[in-house]
Amino acid sequence: MYKFKSLHCYHCKSVILNLPDFEISKLDGLSFQCECCGHTNVLSGSKFSKGSDNDPLLNTFSFDALYQF
Ligand SMILES: [Zn+2]
Repeated sequence: MYKFKSLHCYHCKSVILNLPDFEISKLDGLSFQCECCGHTNVLSGSKFSKGSDNDPLLNTFSFDALYQF
């Protein structure tokens, strides 16, 4: 039914998220840590960009944490 979209780490290109478009729009602006390389990715629009490692207000979600919502 839903069109799924894969979001890749800006650094190592591994897939961090695989979600329907409407779920991705809900997560806009959040930060995710790549489990593969550990880099922080910020969701901007429908793709990841480099996050700030020094942001004290960072909300970092792991892939597993998504299922706790
Ligand atoms: Zn990565």
